[in-house]
Amino acid sequence: MYERILLPTDGSESADAALDHALDIAAQYDAELHVLHVVSAAYAEAGPGHATAIEAMEQHGEETFDRIAERVEAAGVRLTTEQRHGEPHTSIVEYANEAGVDLVVMGTHGRTGLQRYLLGSVTEKVVRTSDVPVLTVRYDEEAAEE
Ligand code: ATP
Ligand code: MN
Repeated sequence: MYERILLPTDGSESADAALDHALDIAAQYDAELHVLHVVSAAYAEAGPGHATAIEAMEQHGEETFDRIAERVEAAGVRLTTEQRHGEPHTSIVEYANEAGVDLVVMGTHGRTGLQRYLLGSVTEKVVRTSDVPVLTVRYDEEAAEE
C-alpha cells in the first residue's frame, strides 16, 4: 500500500509530531521516508537584500534534516531528504508526484502557530490539491510540555 511516504517539514514542533506517525507507518510497510523542506519563494521575491534570510532558511532546513535523521535511523527506516525553493504547497504536491509518493503526512500547523486557523495554509492547500492521501497530525502543545 505504501512504498514512499512524504513528510514535508518547516522544522516546527508540529512537523516533528507528524514525523512520529510517518515513521511508524514507514516501519510497518517497509516504506522509504522522504523528507522535504521548502524555502519559501516569498523570501526570494522580497529582493536581493534577502539573501541572508534565504541562507538562514536553508541552514534551518539542513539542521532539521540532521535532527530527523537520528530518529529515522533509530527506527530502521530508509531516508531521502530534499530541499527546494518555491511556494511551499506547490513544491510539496509537485515533489509528491515526481517521487511517486503514496502518502503525505504533515502537521495541522507549523511555525506560525497553533491558534490561527483550523488548519495552517500550507496544509489546507496540500489537502485540497494532492492526488494522494494526506494524513494530518494535530500537535498538542500542552501535552508536549507535561
Ligand atoms: P501559516 O503558515 O498558514 O501561517 P502554520 O505555519 O501554522 O500557518 P502551515 O504552514 O500550514 O501552518 O504548516 C503546517 C505543516 O505544513 C507543517 O507542520 C509542515 O508539515 C508543512 N509545512 C509548512 N511549511 C512548510 C515548508 N516551507 N516546507 C515544508 N513543509 C512545510
Ligand atoms: Mn507556515
